Amino acid sequence: MTAPVPWKKQKREAGGDGAERLPSVDRVLRSEGGAEAIAEFGRTAFTNAVRERLAGLRAAAQADVDAVAAATVEAEAVAEAARRDLAEAARPTLRPVFNLTGTVLHTNLGRALIAEPAVAAAIAAMRAPMTLEFDLGSGSRGERDEHVRGLLCALTGSEDATAVNNNAAAVLLALNSLGLGREVIVSRGELIEIGGSFRLPDIVLRAGVRLVEVGTTNRTHLSDYAAAIGPETALLLKVHPSNYRIEGFTASVPAAALAVLARERGVKLMHDLGSGVLVDLARYGLAREPTVAEAVADGADLVTFSGDKLLGGPQAGMIVGRRAPMEGINRNPLKRALRLDKIRIAALAATLALYRNPERLAERLPTLRLLLRSESEISDLAERVRPALAAAIGAEFAVEIAPCRSEIGSGAMPVETIASVALSIRSLREKHAGRALTALAASLRRLPVPVVGRIGGQRLLLDLRCLTEEKRFIENLARFGQDAAGLP
Ligand SMILES: *Cc1c(COP(=O)(O)O)cnc(C)c1O
Repeated sequence: MTAPVPWKKQKREAGGDGAERLPSVDRVLRSEGGAEAIAEFGRTAFTNAVRERLAGLRAAAQADVDAVAAATVEAEAVAEAARRDLAEAARPTLRPVFNLTGTVLHTNLGRALIAEPAVAAAIAAMRAPMTLEFDLGSGSRGERDEHVRGLLCALTGSEDATAVNNNAAAVLLALNSLGLGREVIVSRGELIEIGGSFRLPDIVLRAGVRLVEVGTTNRTHLSDYAAAIGPETALLLKVHPSNYRIEGFTASVPAAALAVLARERGVKLMHDLGSGVLVDLARYGLAREPTVAEAVADGADLVTFSGDKLLGGPQAGMIVGRRAPMEGINRNPLKRALRLDKIRIAALAATLALYRNPERLAERLPTLRLLLRSESEISDLAERVRPALAAAIGAEFAVEIAPCRSEIGSGAMPVETIASVALSIRSLREKHAGRALTALAASLRRLPVPVVGRIGGQRLLLDLRCLTEEKRFIENLARFGQDAAGLP
C-alpha cells in the first residue's frame, strides 16, 4: 500500500522551495558532531537548539528560494551551528577582559587585581572547611574578625579593627553605630557623591542619623564645627573628597584639629578615607596620600577605607579605631548583614600579610606593580604588539604608538595621572571616521577575551599600562573578526 504523498512534498518535488535540502532533526542528532554536543549539553537542550536552527533555515528557504536551493545543508553543519548556539548561551556574562582603558582601578572592571598569594588563599578557602569562626585552641566558637584584626591593628596603629562588605557598608555601619537617632556634623565641602549612587547625605539618612551641614563648599573652619555642636550631636565626620579637588580660596579643618575639638566636647570623630593607603606611596615615587596610620594617629575614633582601591585587595570595607566605639559596632545587628564571607576574608588576610614586607610590595601587589610600570617598559611592549594589532584590524586603520596618561581610578588621587604609552588607532576613511572607530571598538569587545580601550579625539586609545599577558593578547587578536559565523 502506498501512503498518500503530503501536498508539501508534492510541491517540493514539483520544483521545490529548498526545504527538502534540510536534514531531519534525527539525522542531525545522529551525526558525529551531534553525538558530541549531546554529551556536552544534554539531549533535550541540543534537540531544541537543532529544531531552532532548522526552523530558521526553513524560514530563510521560504523567503529566498533560490539562495537556499543552491546549497545543500549537511547534518554536520547544522549540528555545529546548534552546538555553537548552546555554547554561546552558556557563556558566562561575567568574563575576563583586557583593561586597556588606562584606568588602573576601574570600578566597572572590578577594581584591584588580587595578588597571587591572596588568590591561592581564596581558592583554598573555597575547597576546604575553614576555621572561620572556630578557635582551634579551645575547640569552641571563634571570631570572624580574628583573621584580619591583628594585621589591621599592626598596620594602622589602631586598637581594634573589623572588615565588612565594602567601604560604603563600613560608613553605613559606623554612622549607624555611633549616631542612630542623633546628629552628625559634616562640612559642605565634603558632602560627596562617589558614583554608583553612593551619596554621602543619602547614606547618612539611611544610617538613621540627622545630617548637620556646616561651612561652605570651599571653606569650612573649626569654629563652624564648634558652633554646630549641641546636645544632639553624636559625632563629627570627615570625608576624603576622593574624586574631586577644590582649588583656590579654600579651607578645611585637619582631622587632628577636629579630634581635639571632638574630645573637648565629648563627641566622636569618624574619618572616611575612601582609598585605604597602608604605606606611604611617596617611597615608591607616587604622589603622597595620607595613610590610614596617620588618620588613626590624628585621633579619629573610627577610620573607614576600601579593600579594593589602593590597598589592592578584594572588595571589602575596613573600620579601624578605638576599642569602645568598636564594641558598639560589634553589637550592631547590621554588622551581620554586612559581613564578609570566608573567601574574601582569606584573600584580604593574605593581601594584608604582603604589607609586612614593604620592600617587596611593589613586585607582589598587582595594583602597585601596574602603577609603577615605567613608560619605557610600556613603550617596548607597544613596539612588540603593534604589528599584531595593525595586521588584525586591517588597512582601514592606522596604528601609532603615542604617549598618554593613565589614571589611578576609583576616586583615588583624581588629579594625578601617570605617564604611559598607548596604541593609538585612527580611521583612514575620509567620511564617517568616527563611526568606523566606534565599530572597531565594538569588534574589539567581541574578541574571545574582549579588549576595552577608550575613544577620544578621533582616536581609539589602547593604554598598555595594564597589559601583562602579551602572548595571550596577540593570540587573542588573531581571532579578530571571526564572530560566530552563520550557516549558508
Ligand atoms: C570609594 C569611596 C567610598 C565607597 O567605597 P566602596 O568600597 O566602593 O564601597 C566611600 N567613601 C569614600 C570617600 C570613597 O572614596
